[in-house]
Amino acid sequence: MTYNYCEDNPQEFLAAFNSLASSKNASVDTIKTEVYFKALHGLPIQAVRQAADDLIREPSPYLPDAGTWYDRADRIACQMYDVSAQKSLPPSKSIQRDERAYLITAREEFLQKLEAFLGRPVSEKSAWRKPVDDIVLPTYACLSCHDTGWVQQEKDMQEMKLYGPSGGQPTVKKCGCSTTNVVIKARFAAHDARKRETVKRGGRA
Ligand SMILES: [Zn+2]
Repeated sequence: MTYNYCEDNPQEFLAAFNSLASSKNASVDTIKTEVYFKALHGLPIQAVRQAADDLIREPSPYLPDAGTWYDRADRIACQMYDVSAQKSLPPSKSIQRDERAYLITAREEFLQKLEAFLGRPVSEKSAWRKPVDDIVLPTYACLSCHDTGWVQQEKDMQEMKLYGPSGGQPTVKKCGCSTTNVVIKARFAAHDARKRETVKRGGRA
């Protein structure tokens, strides 16, 4: 997914800003417009527009400050990014197939080297000749979070200013897959089942 940034779409930004300001009965002038544009210019215009629409629907009678609009748009942009990253991931089946194909090739190469080294063919009963179907490959339903449900959150501007790009506390956020990931769902189901079982046996959950 490619993003159109706010700075390349000043007309759209202006339209969103005017709608937001008039919905809150606020006056708009060049300086105010510039301040808001400067704050929001680096975000995707879709997120900026969506955030403005959300703020218009909220009951507050005041024009939200540029920081509030920025925070909203930034959060929406993050979600958009998560969703598009999920969409671009190959389904887990093809990951498994790719790993399998890779494994078969790697093993054939290894066997050839091994036989050359030994100077004789490797026995058909050897583990190296085990059918690939017997091998369980670790695969992830989600490559972003490796099925933990959490991904590291990028630092926001304020944190960057305070601690620099590598300082401060690392923070995590929910991965975009958390509601659809079958592995995570199965883990929760197993956890619930264990809990019920423990309660049934009179133990503490
Ligand atoms: Zn994930």
